[in-house]
Amino acid sequence: MQSKTLSLPKLNRLNPSLESTALKLMEETGELAQAIGKFRGLSGEKIFMDEKETLDEIARELLDVAQTAVTMMFVMEDTYGINIDDSLKSHLLKLETKGYLRR
Ligand SMILES: [Mg+2]
Repeated sequence: MQSKTLSLPKLNRLNPSLESTALKLMEETGELAQAIGKFRGLSGEKIFMDEKETLDEIARELLDVAQTAVTMMFVMEDTYGINIDDSLKSHLLKLETKGYLRR
C-alpha cells in the first residue's frame, strides 16, 4: 500500500475555533477550485497563467486546504477532546471496508 506522510505544524499565532477553521476550509477549497477551473480557462475567461504556473498554484492551494484541515484537527483535540489518532484508525478501517484499499 502506497502512502503519503504529511507533517504540518500547529499554528501558534492564531486562536482558531471550530467555526473559524470550517469557514477557512471552505475559503481554501474555493481557492483550490478557482486554481483548477478559472486559471485553466474552464470558465471560458481568458487565461493569464501558463500550465506550470497553474499547477504550482493548484499545489499551493491544496496545501492550504491540508493545513487548514490539520488546524481543525488540533481544534477538535484541544477544544473538544477528540482523539484524532483513534479517528484515523476508524477512517482507515472505513476505507478498507469500502474496498478502497487492498492489503
Ligand atoms: Mg489559499
